[in-house]
Amino acid sequence: MYIRPHHILCIQKFTGHGYNEEFTAHMSRAVSELAKNPGTEITAAHGCDDLCKACPNNEDGVCTSCGKVERMDDAVLRVCDFAYGESASWAELSSRARKRIFETDEFQRICAGCQWFELCRKTEIHQK
Ligand code: SF4
Ligand code: SF4
Repeated sequence: MYIRPHHILCIQKFTGHGYNEEFTAHMSRAVSELAKNPGTEITAAHGCDDLCKACPNNEDGVCTSCGKVERMDDAVLRVCDFAYGESASWAELSSRARKRIFETDEFQRICAGCQWFELCRKTEIHQK
C-alpha cells in the first residue's frame, strides 16, 4: 500500500470524518483493512497516495494543499527515521509514529496547522 507519510497519523486518528462521502468510505475501508492486517507492507509515497485517490482535493494527482501536506510528510519521515520509497509493515510504522509523534510534542508541531487538528487532538488512537 502506498501511503504518504502524514497519513500514518491520520489513519490512526480517523473517526469517520472526511472531505466527502466517497473519501470517507474509502478511508474507512483502508483503516479497517490495516486494523485486520497489521503486517501490510506500507511504502512511503512522495505525493498523492492510495488514500488521495478518492479525495476531492486531488487534482490530476496533485493535492491542492500540496505545500502544507508536504511539510507534514517531511516532518513525519524525519521524526520516524523513514524515507520516501522505503517500506515497512503497518504495525512497525504506526507504532513508531505513536511513540515518536502522538506521545510527544511532535504531534502539535506537525499537525497544528491542519483543519482536523482539534478533532484529532481529542481522539484516542484506535489502532494498536
Ligand atoms: S491533525 Fe490532520 S494531519 Fe494530523 S492526524 Fe489529524 S487529520 Fe491527520
Ligand atoms: S489529496 Fe491532499 S487533502 Fe486529499 S487526502 Fe491526499 S493529501 Fe489529503
